[in-house]
Amino acid sequence: MHNWPGILALTPLPKDTTRAMIRNLLRQASRLLLPITCTTCAQPLTDDPVPFFCRSCWALIRPLRGSACARCRRPLASPTALTHSPTHECHDCRTRKPHYAEVWAPYAYCSPLQDAIALFKYQGKVALVDALATLLVRTLPDHLTGDVLMPIPLHPNRLRQREFNQSLLLADRVAQVLGCPVSYRNLVRLVDTEPQTSLPRSARLHNLREAFGLRAPQEIAGKRILLIDDVFTTGTTSNACAKILCDAGAVRVTVLALARSVEAGMVPDVWLPPSDPRPQPELRA
Ligand SMILES: [Zn+2]
Ligand SMILES: [Zn+2]
Repeated sequence: MHNWPGILALTPLPKDTTRAMIRNLLRQASRLLLPITCTTCAQPLTDDPVPFFCRSCWALIRPLRGSACARCRRPLASPTALTHSPTHECHDCRTRKPHYAEVWAPYAYCSPLQDAIALFKYQGKVALVDALATLLVRTLPDHLTGDVLMPIPLHPNRLRQREFNQSLLLADRVAQVLGCPVSYRNLVRLVDTEPQTSLPRSARLHNLREAFGLRAPQEIAGKRILLIDDVFTTGTTSNACAKILCDAGAVRVTVLALARSVEAGMVPDVWLPPSDPRPQPELRA
């Protein structure tokens, strides 16, 4: 019989194993020396449930309140704008009617949510997806149902760079809650467009005219589609997708997004998370 403990003690460990052990020890030591801190306020994290954020900062992420356009849900300047006409639409929706029926993007695109989306999307911190999807689904009203969820697609070049489609990860989690299927192959991005936010409106529209396509348009007819994006900014990308889906016979396209960009001055400060990330008193409904 071999004396295994003796043999193990005397046999030098393979170089790879030794390197892995050293790496692991260094990682643990670095945690002790440089504790992980909250991305927004830099406080050390202990048992905070959301990765990379402390409880106090995460609690600041609250849905926008007040009157909003009945179609795109853009906050309206007047808090009483909907008192007499609850279906009132904003100037943009009235003058250039979008192809989507409604947008649900409940949070303002500002810190700490903006920090979280940046970590998730650009730094590959996919551990945030559950917390982000929870933010979205907990605000969804009952009427926002659909037959199929479709993430806004990335062009294959962008997908190769990023290695994942953030909207698909979100769609997967939202689908689990809503109990409806995700379609991620049908709607495709055919043109690798420039980031839309840096371009004027006319260039954005031109850029997007032929940017999307459907592999199986016959599967869209008669369906209520929930399009998922991470941030709703100008709406031109969502609208280009909604157009192609409506042209294929979709009966209704609803856009779901975590956050929307809001114009400074359009939203009373009380609806926005404070810039100081310390806990604030509860907002009144
Ligand atoms: Zn914090
Ligand atoms: Zn609108």
